[in-house]
Amino acid sequence: MSKPKVLATRPLFPSARKLLESEFEVEYWTSPDRIPRAELLNRVADKDALVCLLTERVDSELLAAAPKLRIAASVSVGHDNIDLEACTQRNVVATHTPGVLDDTTADFAWALLMAVARRVLEGDAWIRAGGWPGWDLDQLCGGDAWGKTLGIIGFGRIGRGVARRAYGFNMRVLYNDAVRAPVNVEEQLRAEHVDRDKLLRDSDFVTLHVPLLPDTQHLITKDNLAKMKPTAYLINTSRGQVVDEAALAEALEQRKIAGAALDVYENEPAVHPALVSRKDVVLTPHIASASIDTRTKMAVMAANNVVALFQGKRPPNALNADALGLK
Ligand code: NAD
Repeated sequence: MSKPKVLATRPLFPSARKLLESEFEVEYWTSPDRIPRAELLNRVADKDALVCLLTERVDSELLAAAPKLRIAASVSVGHDNIDLEACTQRNVVATHTPGVLDDTTADFAWALLMAVARRVLEGDAWIRAGGWPGWDLDQLCGGDAWGKTLGIIGFGRIGRGVARRAYGFNMRVLYNDAVRAPVNVEEQLRAEHVDRDKLLRDSDFVTLHVPLLPDTQHLITKDNLAKMKPTAYLINTSRGQVVDEAALAEALEQRKIAGAALDVYENEPAVHPALVSRKDVVLTPHIASASIDTRTKMAVMAANNVVALFQGKRPPNALNADALGLK
């Protein structure tokens, strides 16, 4: 009997490849460019499974082009690229990669926080440009993290990881979440649940860890930025569309906040031009989960979900298992 066919939109990592190749006939998209949409629709047509990235939309168009597809495994925890309803309607299991990237992503939110507050990139650029005259009293004075207030919007796996690290910086931790955390979690992380307005008003750093959903789209608006302290910083490692980028650029220009550090953008790979030219903004190319270990774990997790389904098991990270009645 011929093996089921898998399309992977990246060559993945050797350990994930090994897993897939032991059970399936696997086709990889290996070009350095992202797979063009037409090519994706064409290549997925005869496949039983798809291993994709957050840059590929799994929607009714793709599902219609892939009549044999049984599973779409996204190598990402965020799954705003997947139309879950459409998958369920077509009896396609959708999976993601929760948990394995929490610490790497939380670490990176802290890297951004420190970089923007302590003006690390400005210092680096100054030295490289050859203009640094040597130590002086008032050079590149930034904001402190130690002892300040950290506001976390979205207190899930990653948001809690960010809180855990704040203890070492002697910070007061406020959080806002659609669902309040259990008391023992609040106590352990010394985190106080507050409404969004209080969080925005009281925090020296506001860091975003919500998924992209209809009600988190432009959660950070012009009005919300105006509520923040003029000395506060905004950190975004969630999804670009959670922040109104034009409003952010305006708030920075008007000194409503002190700075921003962004890993994600509204229209990736484009970045609002008014942000690119600002020194009070740190920009990274959507790499918060990008450690070798973590990206490997993510790819292996996606592969394991595909393997599980074809072994007749419930894929461990299925998003629509209940809707599909998977046991
Ligand atoms: P999670 O599901 O564990 O946590 C998300 C939290 O947000 C939940 O507690 C949820 O209740 C809360 N939430 C949902 N809607 C809300 C709202 N309107 N207001 C306040 N809180 C709300 O998810 P996670 O694993 O912590 O990941 C969070 C997001 O981070 C992902 O969905 C993904 O988009 C993003 N992410 C980005 C990167 C990156 O590379 N930059 C890496 C990993 C994750």
